[in-house]
Amino acid sequence: MPQAVEHHGRPASPGLAAGPLVFLDRPRETRRASGDPAREREALLSAIAESIEAIRALADRAGGDAADILEFQVAMLEDETLAAPAIARIAASIDAVTAWTETIAAQIGDYESSDDEYFRARAADLRDLRDEVARRLCGEAEVALPEGAILTGEDVTPSRFLSVDWSRGGGIALFAGSPSSHVAMLARSRGVPMIVGLGALDLSDHQAAIVDAYAGRVILSPRDEHLSEYETARSDEAGRTGIEGEAALRPASTKDGVPVSVMINVAGPEELDRLDPAICDGIGLVRTEFLFHHGVPDEETQFRAYRRILEWAAPKPVVLRTLDAGGDKPIPGLTIDGESNPFLGTRGIRLCLARPDIFRIQLRAMARAAVHGNAKIMLPMVTVPAEIDQAAALLDEVVAQLAAEGIRHARPPLGIMVEVPAVAVVPDLFARAAFFSIGSNDLTQYVTAAARDVGAVSALVDPGHPAVVALVARVVDAGLRLGIDVSLCGDMGGDPRHIPALMAAGLRSVSVAPPQVGRTKLAIAAADSQ
Ligand code: PEP
Ligand code: MG
Repeated sequence: MPQAVEHHGRPASPGLAAGPLVFLDRPRETRRASGDPAREREALLSAIAESIEAIRALADRAGGDAADILEFQVAMLEDETLAAPAIARIAASIDAVTAWTETIAAQIGDYESSDDEYFRARAADLRDLRDEVARRLCGEAEVALPEGAILTGEDVTPSRFLSVDWSRGGGIALFAGSPSSHVAMLARSRGVPMIVGLGALDLSDHQAAIVDAYAGRVILSPRDEHLSEYETARSDEAGRTGIEGEAALRPASTKDGVPVSVMINVAGPEELDRLDPAICDGIGLVRTEFLFHHGVPDEETQFRAYRRILEWAAPKPVVLRTLDAGGDKPIPGLTIDGESNPFLGTRGIRLCLARPDIFRIQLRAMARAAVHGNAKIMLPMVTVPAEIDQAAALLDEVVAQLAAEGIRHARPPLGIMVEVPAVAVVPDLFARAAFFSIGSNDLTQYVTAAARDVGAVSALVDPGHPAVVALVARVVDAGLRLGIDVSLCGDMGGDPRHIPALMAAGLRSVSVAPPQVGRTKLAIAAADSQ
């Protein structure tokens, strides 16, 4: 057994995990070809069938957004034209693994050179499928990760993250990555411990690891004393989780008794299945871009998703954010390719106003769903007041259409994210918004001029920077003066270290990832209101 080695990175999602190390880019085992085309063909077809079965089982277990991605992969594998060139190669005496990988490599090349971003993005699905079937041909049967696996490698894609059944424990330890990335956000919302920025690790011979994602520490090949330390930390954590779980169910107030509203951020209705509505005062942010994984969903699909969320929370408020694509959230076939800096490009409300065909469908679905609960609509990335006017005009237009068509609907109030410094500096100019919700993730990256998805500058993307805190206070003051409700839905609100500053700034409403509700309420209870 190799010596225990300790490495340090940046915590991206708090928690503890210990288990077998699984490399994200594992080298392939070799397979001895049978030399008989009939047997090779049979081997390939059964590897494809087994893959379909395994991916479908994973989709059934995962549900929601994860299931969509996996069902799409099943549909690709079930399409016989995918494997047809491989079958032809096998008939020409090429072994099954070579025939399959060459076939898929050619198709990946076709997809990657497509002009359409949607098809280019499908290349990643094809790579997953190539490896999945090849693994089975090589007799590496296990698709599901071992229980409690620690995923490690350069970086992890959202689809790889979503394909893992995290209910059995486990964690993530990445050489690169950033705590502000989309995957880190997913990890926090699902309570998966994650560390990023470990640098290139020599993992040879190491089979297991402990991830302490509170301290940003990874121990490779832990010895007995590390494991017993880990067990103690786990039982402390369980105690804290119990206390946090109780705190989550109580209303929040500061040490001096000032009530604070604590809402939750969600990325789809399926996240709510395992949550008790009693833990929150509403849903302060629905990130609707998760509905757009495979292109633009139709009105009915969107309506059903929004309705489910509204019904879960009713009568508490639900803030439905309009599509915030672009930046670190590209949507195949929709976001604009090749921008020199996508975070400063056509993202959020800018993209929606550029594509009113798509924006109208979303607004219609939201207005229809609004009769099933207490809905509010929120615009991301607003920079000038005219964007609110244009969105309001489109909303009025779809509401009038729905009325003319005799379809039940309501017109929710229209508020904005305050995440572009141009708004936070002069919030009074945006007084036509029904409410403000501070997006501290983007506000911080724009104020510090440090991208949220670049590991090398991640220390600079600090919401505790006095400039960010001052802007939060400025927006809170403007809200009080103008009679506009102000909340904060960026990750700053779920980080207990920032709660005292937020309370002192006069903020009285935050929206956080569901696993952070308890610790946020405890941090509020320990803070003064000013
Ligand atoms: C933010 O920017 O703080 C925010 C809540 O939005 P997102 O993280 O989805 O960009
Ligand atoms: Mg944002």
